[in-house]
Amino acid sequence: MSDNHHKVIIIGSGPAGLTAAIYASRANLDPIIFEGHQPGGQLTITTEVDNYPGFKDGIQGPELMEIMREQAIRFGTKAYFKAATEVDFSEKPFKIKTDDNENYTADSVIIATGASARLLGIPSETKYMGFGVSACATCDGFFYKEKKVIVVGGGDTAMEEANYLTKFASEVLLVHRRDQFRSSKIMEERVRNNPKVKLMTSQTIKEVVGTENMGMKSVTGVVLENTKDGSLTEMDIDGVFIAIGHKPNTSVFGDQLDKDETGYLDTKSGSTKTNIEGVFAAGDVTDKIYRQAVTAAGTGCMAALDAQHYLEDKGIA
Ligand code: NAP
Repeated sequence: MSDNHHKVIIIGSGPAGLTAAIYASRANLDPIIFEGHQPGGQLTITTEVDNYPGFKDGIQGPELMEIMREQAIRFGTKAYFKAATEVDFSEKPFKIKTDDNENYTADSVIIATGASARLLGIPSETKYMGFGVSACATCDGFFYKEKKVIVVGGGDTAMEEANYLTKFASEVLLVHRRDQFRSSKIMEERVRNNPKVKLMTSQTIKEVVGTENMGMKSVTGVVLENTKDGSLTEMDIDGVFIAIGHKPNTSVFGDQLDKDETGYLDTKSGSTKTNIEGVFAAGDVTDKIYRQAVTAAGTGCMAALDAQHYLEDKGIA
């Protein structure tokens, strides 16, 4: 076998991929990991992470991911700053091509490519991401005690996040681009009955407004645009939560792996096994419900153990 053949190749370097790497390297499987275009994954675009166990005073998202990476490397994982661009799971060993035109083969593959929050696509949203703009109320809601925040979206996630944020915020404005909600009726009712939530329909955010002082950015307001008549309204606000859905990062796998109706990879119940023997999936690419760093890390651990057992059964490990 060539130098580019490995027992385990992990694609993706968020909590799922790096936890899989820690476990696989400690099992002497000599894994390599393709870190992708956003090494560390979604946590690298958050600031304080207060709910990851073991860090009683919280930790910055990028620092947490760097620690996980160093832990994986300490046990022998080789990490490459490259992304998988083509895979062929039709025969063994599996084939993976990367964005630098290298060809790799693997006895087993762990997919941990995560999901990306859908964003509005306006420059000011990117500018204040992590500094008043967030795509995760569970992660960042705590920082908005007695503040006024906006949630954007009209689906179940937006409803759930709006309700959740009322635990902290003094006022939550739910901004939706249409006058009909996509969410389930029960979730909508819950929001309508919550006195701290105000619904603003037929509105989109045209711009997030903020300040920047010695590199410290913060959101101070938004400009809303009425989707029916185009009129603009300026409003003071402390935080903006984008809740317009997530997209699992699966395009590189084409139709080779089974997915659910919303595009998340299917795994066999209670395991990380995909429809292809030897290919495992962990983290947000398989999870549209929990989407937490700790749940991703948990399934990353499962994927490494599933890969280890698979390789042992095949007499490879
Ligand atoms: P979703 O159902 O796809 O809803 C996305 C919402 O964002 C829609 O209202 C959409 O508006 C809006 N939107 C999309 N792009 C936008 C843009 N560029 N600008 C402004 N608004 C935009 O996504 P989701 O709410 O994340 O839910 C995903 C799945 O998870 C659903 O099946 C949902 O039922 C499920 N889920 C379930 C629960 C629960 O049961 N506890 C909780 C969360 C999620 P339009 O309506 O105009 O398209």
